[in-house]
Amino acid sequence: MIQLTTAAKLEKAITKARSTKPLVRVNCFGSYTITNKTTGATYTVECLKQDGKRFAHCSCEAGKRGRACYHVAAAVAAHIQLAADKQAAH
Ligand SMILES: [Zn+2]
Repeated sequence: MIQLTTAAKLEKAITKARSTKPLVRVNCFGSYTITNKTTGATYTVECLKQDGKRFAHCSCEAGKRGRACYHVAAAVAAHIQLAADKQAAH
């Protein structure tokens, strides 16, 4: 589980996500499937909120070790966008 604090902590992962441009599929709000277009590998990222803190979990090796991977960065970007859309709809 990776705790999401500041964007700075995710900076490296965000940079990698920008260059890798993985495919992000929304399973439902908070659950995303990330596909590496080059290797075809897919990972599941879950975003959740606990006690007011935001966490993410990725099924890849780095994610399992609690490291911020680019899958999480890509999913979080989609999650934030989705949350903003949700808010705008209300
Ligand atoms: Zn990952």
